[in-house]
Amino acid sequence: VSVIGCRLMSAAAPKAIQNPDIKCAKIFINNEFVDAVSGKTFQTIDPATEKVICEVAEGDKADVDKAVAAAREAFRLGSPWRRMDATDKQDLMLKLADLIERDRDYIASLETLDNGKPFLISHAVDIGLTLKCLRYHAGWATKNLGHVVPMDGDFFSYIRKEPVGVCGQIIPWNFPMLMQAWKFGPALAMGNTVVLKPAEQTPLTALYIAKLAAEAGFPPGVINVVPGYGPTAGAAIAEHMDVDKVAFTGSTEVGQLIPQMSAGSNLKRVTLELGGKSPQIVFADSDVEAAIDNTHTGLFFNQGQCCTAGSRIFVEEKVYNDFVEAATEKAKTRKVGNPFTDVDQGPQVDEEQMAKILDLIDSGKKEGAKMTVGGGRLGDKGFFVAPTVFADVQDNMRIAKEEIFGPVMQIMKFRSDEELIARAHDTIYGLAASVYTQNVDRAITMANSLRAGTVWVNCHNVFDTTMPFGGYKMSGQGRELGPYGIEAYTEIKSVIMKISQKNA
Ligand code: NAD
Repeated sequence: VSVIGCRLMSAAAPKAIQNPDIKCAKIFINNEFVDAVSGKTFQTIDPATEKVICEVAEGDKADVDKAVAAAREAFRLGSPWRRMDATDKQDLMLKLADLIERDRDYIASLETLDNGKPFLISHAVDIGLTLKCLRYHAGWATKNLGHVVPMDGDFFSYIRKEPVGVCGQIIPWNFPMLMQAWKFGPALAMGNTVVLKPAEQTPLTALYIAKLAAEAGFPPGVINVVPGYGPTAGAAIAEHMDVDKVAFTGSTEVGQLIPQMSAGSNLKRVTLELGGKSPQIVFADSDVEAAIDNTHTGLFFNQGQCCTAGSRIFVEEKVYNDFVEAATEKAKTRKVGNPFTDVDQGPQVDEEQMAKILDLIDSGKKEGAKMTVGGGRLGDKGFFVAPTVFADVQDNMRIAKEEIFGPVMQIMKFRSDEELIARAHDTIYGLAASVYTQNVDRAITMANSLRAGTVWVNCHNVFDTTMPFGGYKMSGQGRELGPYGIEAYTEIKSVIMKISQKNA
C-alpha cells in the first residue's frame, strides 16, 4: 500500500469479515468487562448502512471514578506493574502488538464497520502504523534512563525519570485504534497507568484491544477503557482530582476546555492535539504531476477526516489552470462506496459530520467559489459525500477558514512567495503544511518560514512513529511520538544525597 507514503505490508493477504462478531462492548476496568454503574448503554452505528451495530455500555463519572481507582491502585509503588522489570514491560508491549497482528483481519474489519474507512486501509495503514507505534515504544521501556549529575564532593546526586502516574486519554473517531496506540505507547513504556475514553462514534476497536492487553498479561488496572460521551465521561476524566495527566486529541473547541478543567481541579499535566487547516503549496517549479497526486492524497485520505488534511491548496499562477483541471479529473476517479470492497473512500463517520460538510459545501457555492466536481451527498443510505473540488477560493470564504473534515478540496491562486507566506499563516491553526518545489533553497526557506508542527516537502500526510507530532498556535500543546512524546509521560525527579565524609 503506497497511501500516505508508507510501505506497510502485512504478511498474509487481508481477509475482510463483513459481519464481525462483537465480542467487547462493555467498560473495561481491572481487566474485566463490566456494565455501566448507571446500567445505561448507547448505540454505535455502521456509517455505511446506518444500521445499529450494537449497544455499548455508557460510562460516566461513576465509571470513570472506578477506572481511576483501579489505575491508581495499579500505579501504587510495590504493585506488580511498578515492580515489573523494564524488559518485561517491553515484552508485554511487544506481545500486545503480536496479538493485534494475529487478529489483524478481525480488528481491521471491526474498525471499518464502526468508522467506515476502507477495509484495505484499516488493514494496511491503521493497523500497520499501530503495530509500528507499539513496537517502537516498547523499546523505550528499557532505554529511558536517568543519569548521575556531578555536584560537589559532599553530595551524590542523580536524576530519575519516573512515570507521571494515572493518565487520562481522550481520543477521536478518525483513527480510533491508531490514536489509542499513540496514547498507550509512550504511557505504558514509561510505566504509567491509563484510563482511555474512545470517541462515542467508534468505541469497538479500543475495547477489543483492551481485551488483548489482558491476554498479553498486563496486570489488572494498568489499562482501563471507558466508552461514553464527551461532556460526561470525557469531562469526568479531565476534571478528576486523581488523574495526573490528560492527553486529548479532538477539536480545538473542546481542546480549549481541557486546560480549564485541569486548572479547576488538580492542575494535571495537559497535552492537546487539535484541529488544522493545513496549506499545501504548489510552486510552478515543482514536479506538478507528482504534486497533483500528493495533494490529492493529502486532502482526500481517510475521507478527508485527518487533522492534517491539506485543505488549502495554494497554486502558483503559472500552473494554476492546469492544476485545477488535473486535480478535478483526479477527484473524479475516486471510487466511493461500500468500505468492505476495493474503494478509495467510504462514508463519513456519522450524520452530524456529513451535515457539517454539506453545510460548508453550500457555503462555498453561495460565497462564489467555483465548484468543479462533486458538491453533495451520494445516495440516501450511508453518510457518503461526493469528492468535491472548489477552485478560485478566496481567503475570507468559510471553506478557506473552517476545518471541513471531509472530502472537499480548496484551490487558491498565488503570485509571489511573500504574498503566499502571509496568506498561508492567516489561520488560527498551525498543525501541518506542505511545499511542492524542486528548488532546494525554496524548500528550506519555506520549511523555516511556515509556522506548523510538521512541514512536508514534496509529500503530505507521511507519518512516522519516530517523528514528533503536534501543533503550533491553536492546533495544540506539546508533542506526541518520538523522544518528545516520551517526555510528555515522564516526571523528572532530582535526588540529592549528602555524603558523610567522616571515613574519608
Ligand atoms: P470532539 O473534540 O468533540 O471529540 C473528541 C473527543 O473528545 C471524543 O472522545 C469526545 O467524546 C471527547 N469530548 C467531547 N466533548 C468533551 C468534553 N466537554 N470534555 C471532555 N471530552 C470531550 O471532536 P468530534 O465531535 O469528534 O469532531 C468535531 C471536530 O473535531 C471535527 O469536525 C474536527 O474538526 C475535529 N477533530 C479533530 C481531530 C484531530 O485529530 N485533531 C480528530 C477528530 C475530530
